[in-house]
Amino acid sequence: MTQPEERIRIGISSCLLGEAVRYDGGHKRDRYLADVLSRYFEFVSYCPEVAIGLGVPRPPIRLMAGREGPRALRSTDGRDVTDDLHAYGTAIGRAAAGLSGYLLKSRSPSCGPGRVGVFDAAGREVGQSPGIFARALAAAVPLLPIEDEGRLSDPDLRDNFIERVCAYQRWQRTMADGLTPAALVRFHTEHEFLLMAHGPAGARRLGRLAAQAGAAALPGLAADYLAALMAQLARPARRGDQANVLMHLAGFLEDRIDRGDRAELGAAIDGYRRGATPIIVPITLLRHHLRGNSDDHLAAQVCLDRAPGEPHGAAGRD
Ligand code: SF4
Repeated sequence: MTQPEERIRIGISSCLLGEAVRYDGGHKRDRYLADVLSRYFEFVSYCPEVAIGLGVPRPPIRLMAGREGPRALRSTDGRDVTDDLHAYGTAIGRAAAGLSGYLLKSRSPSCGPGRVGVFDAAGREVGQSPGIFARALAAAVPLLPIEDEGRLSDPDLRDNFIERVCAYQRWQRTMADGLTPAALVRFHTEHEFLLMAHGPAGARRLGRLAAQAGAAALPGLAADYLAALMAQLARPARRGDQANVLMHLAGFLEDRIDRGDRAELGAAIDGYRRGATPIIVPITLLRHHLRGNSDDHLAAQVCLDRAPGEPHGAAGRD
C-alpha cells in the first residue's frame, strides 16, 4: 500500500486515541491504532456519550434487558439514554459519506460492535448485544467496514479490515468521479486478483455483475456490486487461494524473466503457501519484475499494492 495522496478517513471511538472521555475521566489508548495506523489513516474521533451531554466524569451506563431489546441505563439513577445514543449513531452514520471505515471500542455499552453484556434487574448477565451507538451506526451504513480494537490485535483480522477500508474508499472515489459502465468495469478489472484471493466463487459472481455494465440500470447494478464486493472481501483470504493467485500472476511473467528469477519467485510463493514466508516477499518480487516488464493489466492490480513495513503485510489463513 503506497501512502495515498489523500489520507483515508476512519471514524474511531475517541478513548482509543487517548482522549480522556471515559466515564471515570480516563482513556483506553490503543498503541497500535494511535502510533501506527494513525500514520496511514486520518482518524475522526467521536465519543457518543460525551456528544449526548453525559459529561466527564459521569456515572457508567449499562445495557439492561428490555421487552423490545436492550436499553442503556445510567447506573446511578436509571436514566434511559438509549434513544439519544441511537439517534446520535444514526446521525453519524448518515453523515459518514467521508468515512471509509470505523473503529469502535469493544465491550462498551455505547460503542461495542458486538458481545456487550446485557443484564437483568438482579445484575445477572442474561445476554449479549452490540452497544446502542454501534448498532445504530451499522444500521445506517451497513456496508461500511467496522471493527473493534480487540479484534484488530489479530493480524489476519487487521489486514482484512484494512483491505476492506481501502476497497471501500476506492469505491467511494469511483462514485465521486461519476460512475459510468466503463468505470465499473475498470474498478472490477483492477480488483480481479484481489477478489480471486478471497475465493473463486464470489469472484466469478462479481465478474458476472461487472459484465452487466452497460446493459443493466447502473444505480441498481452499482448497489448490488458494492454489496457483493464487501461480502467477498469480508470472507477470509485463505493461504491456498492467495498462493494460487500469486502463481497466476507469476505465470504472466513466464516468458519475460530468466530461469533464475522464475525459480526464486516460485520458491517465494511456495514458501508462502507452506507458511514459511510472509506474503510480502513474493509480492515484492512480483512488483520488481513487473516494473521491468510492464503489463498495464497486472500493474493496475490492487493486490500488488503493498510495500514492506506497511501494516498490510500479514499472511492469509491456513
Ligand atoms: S467507548 Fe465510546 S462512549 Fe465510551 S468513552 Fe470511548 S468513545 Fe466514549
